[in-house]
Amino acid sequence: MLSVHTSPLAQLGGKEAGGMNVYVRELARELGRRNVAVDIFTRSQKRGEPQITEIGANARVVTLRTGPAAPYDKNLVLDYLPEFVGRVRCFADDEDLQYDLIHSHYWVSGVAALELRKMWGTPIIQMFHTLGAMKNQVAKSASWGETDERGAIEGQLLREADAIVAATPLDRDQMIWNYAARAERIVVIPCGVDTTTFHPTPQAEARAALHLPQQPARLVLFVGRIEPLKGIDTLLRATERMVQERPAWRDDLHVLVVGGDRGSKDDQWAGEQQRLDSLAQSLGIRDNVHFVGAQPQSQLPLLYSATDVVAVPSHYESFGLVSLEAQASGAPVVASRVGGLQYTIQDGVSGFLVPYDDPDAFAGRIAQLLDDDALRQSMQAAAVLNAERYAWPRVTNELLELYTRVERLRSPVHTIAPLGISNPVQAPKALSPACATCEADKLPVPCPLLEACPVQGS
Ligand code: UDP
Repeated sequence: MLSVHTSPLAQLGGKEAGGMNVYVRELARELGRRNVAVDIFTRSQKRGEPQITEIGANARVVTLRTGPAAPYDKNLVLDYLPEFVGRVRCFADDEDLQYDLIHSHYWVSGVAALELRKMWGTPIIQMFHTLGAMKNQVAKSASWGETDERGAIEGQLLREADAIVAATPLDRDQMIWNYAARAERIVVIPCGVDTTTFHPTPQAEARAALHLPQQPARLVLFVGRIEPLKGIDTLLRATERMVQERPAWRDDLHVLVVGGDRGSKDDQWAGEQQRLDSLAQSLGIRDNVHFVGAQPQSQLPLLYSATDVVAVPSHYESFGLVSLEAQASGAPVVASRVGGLQYTIQDGVSGFLVPYDDPDAFAGRIAQLLDDDALRQSMQAAAVLNAERYAWPRVTNELLELYTRVERLRSPVHTIAPLGISNPVQAPKALSPACATCEADKLPVPCPLLEACPVQGS
């Protein structure tokens, strides 16, 4: 797997780490349990990270030093992709590995996947997780928008990858409408949820474990990255409406906002948190809204179980794992009627769907659930059943079927021979004059490893 710009080991809820990281991690673990060995390649974001981290049986994260070992904008990662590709190739050769398939996540990784396919002949399954065109359609300002380069690369990947996984039928249709993608290349397979981790705990027990107030406190939860697309301002405005209409709730309605990184130095990122802080202040709900920062995922099952309603007010959500995790933990969800949320929530059964960017609609449905104990309880039970449909073993069965089909597309001959660093006996003789070890002139860029190359050095 390729997850170049963000690691499955990254702290979740931060700027670039959310559902995709969870997807990559959980799928790799489930595949590993079934004896399908997975290496996930990602770039190093801080000095001193171990190169190999086992995350389960037969599942490893391989962190490669590529460009500066620091977080930076995902668009800049493109500049370092040639180096990344070179290092992946050296790693595989060093470990004497031949991969049967590349499962590539996000458009940035797709560029690396195309290069690796050229060298290895290995077929590619591409997932986008979000589409640049869709983000641009809901962007309220240029700073939310995505680059033209992203759009062009997504188009290229839709044309050239061996198969594309869309998370929902709508996701597939959006690929067709926005990029003229060929429908027969796209397979719809939903994302999964770990129903052993995310399961219901009785609410009083969950609240006691988290030291949260018991009834009559009304708890509404948001979980996710703090970015404009997540529509947190809609939830704040809905909260204002609720306390205005029900003054008694001013003291016992609490909205927990989980996610974000208050220590971030990134201007845009810190700016969004500041914008939300001052919005809560100006709406007069500062005491009702609690920005508690990112939480480890292990805490979330209890948090979901402890709350009365989980709100997902996103403007766009290609799938939306939080909604599934919440339901699996027995929490009804009030969510925007956008993207994948329309599939994962059974409207009126396991939660409510409302128009996005509509504080009144959110306030109405959240208050209805907070007011009506019987409705909430019936939705809690329905939510757990609904989430079962997305349990990882089921989703993995579908992916394995696709893997088997796509693997047959492997081209029979490697276009480039093995590097032979770890096994000099097999090293191809008399290759390029530039580097007989690494075939540096056949890499897309000059070999970034030349100086450190153990064989060339000797
Ligand atoms: N998450 C987490 N801690 C946080 C915030 C988020 O573990 O503080 C996880 C959450 O459990 C979910 C993921 O991040 O698995 C967010 O996924 P989703 O698909 O809802 O949103 P995305 O980040 O992909 O837009």
